[in-house]
Amino acid sequence: MNSAESAALVLACKERGWTVAPNGESADLVLINTCSVRLTAEKRALGRIALYASLKKKLPAKAPAGAHGCSFALVVAGCMAQRMGESLKKKFPAVDYVMGTASRSMFPLILEAVEKKTNIIMDDMTATLGLGQFSFSSSHLEEGQFRSFVPIMHGCNNFCSYCIVPYVRGREVSRDPNLITEEIRLVAERGVREITLLGQNVNTYNWNGGGALNSAINFSGLLRLVAAEAEKSGVKRLRFLSANPRDFSRDTIQVMAEHRVFCRHLHLCVQHGSNRILTAMNRGYTRERYLALVKEIRSAMPEISLSTDILVGFPGETEEDLKAALELMEEVRFLYAYMYHYNPREGTSAYDLPDRVSEEIKRERLSRVIALQKKHTSALLKKRVGAREIVLVEGISRKNADELVTRTERDEMVVAPGPVSMIGSYAWLTLSSLRGNTFRAKEFISCPSA
Ligand code: SF4
Repeated sequence: MNSAESAALVLACKERGWTVAPNGESADLVLINTCSVRLTAEKRALGRIALYASLKKKLPAKAPAGAHGCSFALVVAGCMAQRMGESLKKKFPAVDYVMGTASRSMFPLILEAVEKKTNIIMDDMTATLGLGQFSFSSSHLEEGQFRSFVPIMHGCNNFCSYCIVPYVRGREVSRDPNLITEEIRLVAERGVREITLLGQNVNTYNWNGGGALNSAINFSGLLRLVAAEAEKSGVKRLRFLSANPRDFSRDTIQVMAEHRVFCRHLHLCVQHGSNRILTAMNRGYTRERYLALVKEIRSAMPEISLSTDILVGFPGETEEDLKAALELMEEVRFLYAYMYHYNPREGTSAYDLPDRVSEEIKRERLSRVIALQKKHTSALLKKRVGAREIVLVEGISRKNADELVTRTERDEMVVAPGPVSMIGSYAWLTLSSLRGNTFRAKEFISCPSA
């Protein structure tokens, strides 16, 4: 989501004739688009702001100047900007503008002010734009880009007790389905071959029937529309993020199974395997419901790979709870997982919960979860050696310039020797061996249907 939104901000700059500066010293504007979903992400963003604030102090004023006649205008955008608001300016007086997720539409005004070497104040912008009104931005494509994100909704109503997202992104807003299909057509015309539909909680997409469509549709209805548009436009792969087990409907499984354009990979966040902890997290499902959903998905699409998020060390977590999480992992056998330990986020309902797990125990438990996942990933990948797959060629290998990096629809990485001209195209290959978690193939096998 952060990458897609950063790309949209870059697009807004480029549309006004701006270009990317090689470094902060020569820039007229430095934009830091922050994420606040994890504490570590915020700490990193604060470090980056401090770095540019100190650079700004050292640089002499130059022409063309930033908003205050200084070296560059410093803008902090995104979720952390939304959460911390004007307090960021107090902490870092070098920050010129704080632009939260709800006020992204002020960005053109900021650019205009920097261009004119003037300054605008928050109140003027609030009056002009009516802050708090969320608007979707179009996707930004670089020349030759063949994968794209397309936002379909924004915000979240779930309020998982550990999560800051509903506070910084606000309530759910679904995007007009016509704008979504139009964007798919446009990016396909510009050469995009794979699209990921984006939202904090895509399964609750809900269009109320306004606009040209004139009828209400839910997520599975949108998937049908999108699949039809993708198939017409020549987009061969569709993915969506993030899927939530709480709201994952049978109809969604059916649409995915019916339309081969949906990749056989699903990131289905489980977070934990203990019902007691899932309830405390306010996740809205039990381990039994999650396992039943996995069974249903696999019976409709046996070839699908699953990945997940696992959060250990939630307040009150016992050894028994951790055992339940490890058992769930054994039962599902995810291809991979994003694993992390709990960090309290001020403002969330879990922040004041008693029985915090010590840092030492959190780290020890996380290491057990990681060790088990590594075992599963390795065993699942080994079984795939010898399989024949269609891959999308993504780029040149960083380790060997004669090799290309590719990805299967199951989100497996394969490296194979081949010409640079293949980047952005689909091809067949055989997964001939495995090194770490990356497959190797001896050659590409051309196939007209790819
Ligand atoms: S579903 Fe839960 S974890 Fe995901 S964004 Fe919403 S509140 Fe956060």
